[in-house]
Amino acid sequence: MWAQAKCASCREAALVPPARRIMQQNAPFGKCARRAESPCPTRFPTRRSPSSPSFPVLAGLVGLALGSFATCAGHRLAHGGSVLSPARSYCPACGHTLSWRENIPLLGWLLLLGKCRHCGAPIPARYPLTELASGAFAVAAAHVFGFTPHLAVALAFATLCLVLSLIDLQTYLLPDALTLPGAALALA
Ligand SMILES: [Zn+2]
Repeated sequence: MWAQAKCASCREAALVPPARRIMQQNAPFGKCARRAESPCPTRFPTRRSPSSPSFPVLAGLVGLALGSFATCAGHRLAHGGSVLSPARSYCPACGHTLSWRENIPLLGWLLLLGKCRHCGAPIPARYPLTELASGAFAVAAAHVFGFTPHLAVALAFATLCLVLSLIDLQTYLLPDALTLPGAALALA
């Protein structure tokens, strides 16, 4: 005889056979008696585990690239520039356009030993640190959300926060043009 019980994870009512009632009481987090072999469909409605083990690596690379974009955007917006123009990154001291090697997130700064190859001006350590933080966050977010729209929202919000932090660090200002869309994104 089937009985009315509650899912151990989502707490929703579920009809379970008597043989499964004990199993349900001891069900691990994320398991639902209605679908004992898969994650609870109510608790994790959209989560999908990526099949490839390279997914966290790919997420980390995307995070590094987003961190590189955040450093560039943060510097340009703090100095009244445009995010889109010029398209290529450049040294703020001498205007030298960076090559693709110099533009590699994290590695570029290490290869240049923290200095512009052209004029020798120091490149602030906050650049590689921002890229590293963004990459680490992307790996963690990929682990938590999987390959879902939530991951894209989390990465976009984190990148926006990084840009705002960098602008705040240099100007002590937070532009409304970024904070208002950020508030909307936070509610998404
Ligand atoms: Zn330079």
